[in-house]
Amino acid sequence: MKRIVVLGGGESGTGAAVLAKVKGFDVFLSDRSPIKDQYKELLNKYDIPWEEGHHTSELILNADEVIKSPGIPETAPIMIEIIKKKIPYISEIEFAGRYTNAKMICITGSNGKTTTTLLTYHILKSAGLKVGLAGNVGKSMALQVAFDDYDYYVIELSSFQLDNMYEFKANIAILLNITPDHLDRYEYDMQNYINAKFRITQNQTENDAFIYWNDDPIIKKEVEKHPIKAKSFPFAENCDKPGAHLEKDQMIVDTLSQHFEMNIEELALEGKHNLLNSMAATISANILNIKKEEIRAALADFQGVEHRLERVAVIDDVLYINDSKATNVNSCWYALQSMRTPTVLILGGKDKGNDYTEIESLVRDKVKALVFMGVDNSKLHKFFDYMNIPTKDAGSMKEAVDYCKEFAKPGDTVLLSPCCASFDLFTSYEDRGNQFKECVKQLI
Ligand code: ADP
Repeated sequence: MKRIVVLGGGESGTGAAVLAKVKGFDVFLSDRSPIKDQYKELLNKYDIPWEEGHHTSELILNADEVIKSPGIPETAPIMIEIIKKKIPYISEIEFAGRYTNAKMICITGSNGKTTTTLLTYHILKSAGLKVGLAGNVGKSMALQVAFDDYDYYVIELSSFQLDNMYEFKANIAILLNITPDHLDRYEYDMQNYINAKFRITQNQTENDAFIYWNDDPIIKKEVEKHPIKAKSFPFAENCDKPGAHLEKDQMIVDTLSQHFEMNIEELALEGKHNLLNSMAATISANILNIKKEEIRAALADFQGVEHRLERVAVIDDVLYINDSKATNVNSCWYALQSMRTPTVLILGGKDKGNDYTEIESLVRDKVKALVFMGVDNSKLHKFFDYMNIPTKDAGSMKEAVDYCKEFAKPGDTVLLSPCCASFDLFTSYEDRGNQFKECVKQLI
């Protein structure tokens, strides 16, 4: 019997292990960290042996194939051994894709993946399609493939997931944007990261669709370099058919089979970046021939996504916005760009090789005070101190929010959009965002 070893016992790994078991493989799961109880229960229910807190080489290196959690880098000691032994390793999505004929709508990009994935899913589901939500959001795709009978999957794919995908094909691929991110995992070589993102088009044929932001300089250049087999549907402020563009206050989407128009004011998602996300989602819905009135209704009643430019409260006439998911400089740029009043900005956390030049002029124009919140704020000071903007260092969220309250005057905005990962002071960006909301609510 073929042996499959799953590395990582989170949502994706556990799901992959269960699917492998259901498909008759000899399965073993190993996680170097503790496994959550809910996943242990699932593994036990399906009689899947597992270990936590360490990797036992003898139980792993006898695998015929490894399914690797996207969080594990190739430089991890166990991966070095796996690579040395030439054991093939794939992602959970690659594995799950082998066992379903559902149509795949796949979304990648440096920013906006979750928002666009959830919006696309919302449109398809509201239209009554049998659709699953997978990838970085929702339930494990492998688990859904094991037990559900979906006709479509809307899948958020990070570059790490794409790294270990080989045969998998997206029927509809969406590439939102490419800006420097995770360079620590790509040998600090931007082209490696770009190549990983473009893997979303691999295996596509002329019957498939590739939707991309045509105003992104990197994507534009790359598309010219590599002719894409799939039908192209670019979106941009100005764009020829097929694709999406803007005309005054209208979003125009033309997929040749369907022409769709909607007033931008009616879209549930606000801000320039969200308009782009809405365009991408709408193109895919049009390609799937969803009725225009259903697309329109879903675009209008979408509920937004927690921790992404989320309005928390207005206290003493100060608006508090939680954008904890802004873990890189570009997403903070979009957040700042959409600020309408003087802003107190909370920045900082675990720096992933950031270059703050991108937000320099927006900070100068829009930010009245800065609060740096990280274990090591020296890089932030080095970059921003010359601007002479009032600045405070905070060692906790409570301290940060208290400083913001002192800085903000009626009519101002307090924005948490940290540009950095959260792992120095928080367990996750959700934890950071939740603590922010908690501390803000305590100001009432
Ligand atoms: P991802 O899943 O790619 O990290 P999210 O939808 O979670 O993207 O949004 C992450 C951050 O990026 C948020 O701060 C959000 O406001 C911002 N953002 C959303 N869409 C875009 C976009 N198209 N371009 C740039 N930034 C965006």
